[in-house]
Amino acid sequence: MQLGIILNVMVKSSKSKQNLFRDTTQRQLILEYLHRSLAHPTAQEIFRIIKKTLPRVSLSTIYRNLIILEKQGRVSSLSYSKNFTRFELNHGDHYHFICEKCDKVEHVNLDPLLELNSQLARRHDLVVNNHQLTFFGFCQNCQKKK
Ligand SMILES: [Zn+2]
Ligand SMILES: [Zn+2]
Repeated sequence: MQLGIILNVMVKSSKSKQNLFRDTTQRQLILEYLHRSLAHPTAQEIFRIIKKTLPRVSLSTIYRNLIILEKQGRVSSLSYSKNFTRFELNHGDHYHFICEKCDKVEHVNLDPLLELNSQLARRHDLVVNNHQLTFFGFCQNCQKKK
C-alpha cells in the first residue's frame, strides 16, 4: 500500500470516529435537555439549546440524532401538534392535552387504556405495540384571556 493511500485511510477512519464522537455527544445533550424540559420541544427548540454548547451543530444533524434516539426507543415524537413534531423522553404510556390557542402540550392524569391494544389486536388480528390519545381544547391560561 502506498503511503498516500494509508494516510488517506487513516484520515478517513479518524474522521468517522470524530463524527461518531460528535453524534454521541449531541445525543447525550439532547437526552439531558429532554430530561430537564417538560415542554415537549420541537427539533428547532432543541437545536437552539444544543447550539449554545456545540456552536457548529446543524439542524439536520439534530433531526438525524432525534430519529436515531427514537429508533432506540429512548425518545418519542408527537407529530399531531399544529405545526411541528415535538419530542420527549420515552416514558411509557401517557396522554396529552394540546391547547389550540397557544399550542402548549400538557400531560393529563389519566390511566392508560391498555385493554384497547389487546381489544384491537384481537378484533383485527394485529400486533399492537402502543396507541396515542390526544385531547384538544383551551388551557387554563387561554381560558382566562378573552
Ligand atoms: Zn393555551
Ligand atoms: Zn408526553
